[in-house]
Amino acid sequence: MPRALLLDLDDTLFDRGAAFAAWLAQRLGRAPEPGELAAFREIDQRGRRPRDEFAADAARLGVTVEPARFPLELAEHVEPEAGAREALERLAARLRVGVVTNGGAAQRIKLARLGLEGVVHAVFVSAELGAAKPAAAIFAHALGWTGAAPHEVLFAGDDPIADLAPAAAHGMVAVWRVRGEWPRWLAPPAHRIHSVAALEELCGCAPPAADARDAGAGPGDAARGARA
Ligand SMILES: [Mg+2]
Repeated sequence: MPRALLLDLDDTLFDRGAAFAAWLAQRLGRAPEPGELAAFREIDQRGRRPRDEFAADAARLGVTVEPARFPLELAEHVEPEAGAREALERLAARLRVGVVTNGGAAQRIKLARLGLEGVVHAVFVSAELGAAKPAAAIFAHALGWTGAAPHEVLFAGDDPIADLAPAAAHGMVAVWRVRGEWPRWLAPPAHRIHSVAALEELCGCAPPAADARDAGAGPGDAARGARA
């Protein structure tokens, strides 16, 4: 059983794509057309574009975005994932649980909306630390906080490049919150999960998951990891 669990926030503990769609609907004052939503998703790239570049492209699509306000606006649309808080409460009773996230003040607002600020034991926000994923410093800082050996720490995230490659490079166990495709050129993650709740089984803290997607996926999935 691992001794600690480190978690990315956006698109790992909640569906950022859904929050983005809700944000766009509010800004437009109506539901976006499918093509319109796709165009905005393209310029946002799941939050990986620099915000000033996103804002410039959004203006061309007819929506004014204030780069500094955008994360705070998005945070207002964050919705909890079913079962996630309860699973993390149980995990936090057994393991050290921390969040490692890129961003600023909006990240703590998101955690509060998810009901997680009093659940996890520590929150590492890049703007507060002066280091952002994938920089080694933020991983080393969080790993040091766990007090555990790297192989005793699970790092769960959706981003293969910013979350999981550096976590694995530090010797931590990479758990991919599946979003999109895993890059073919990158060594595969140790485990894959399709829900936050699947972490319980992966950590040996719960009976086999009822979630068929998590139990029935291919090699390296959560169920296999729990039996290994
Ligand atoms: Mg993420």
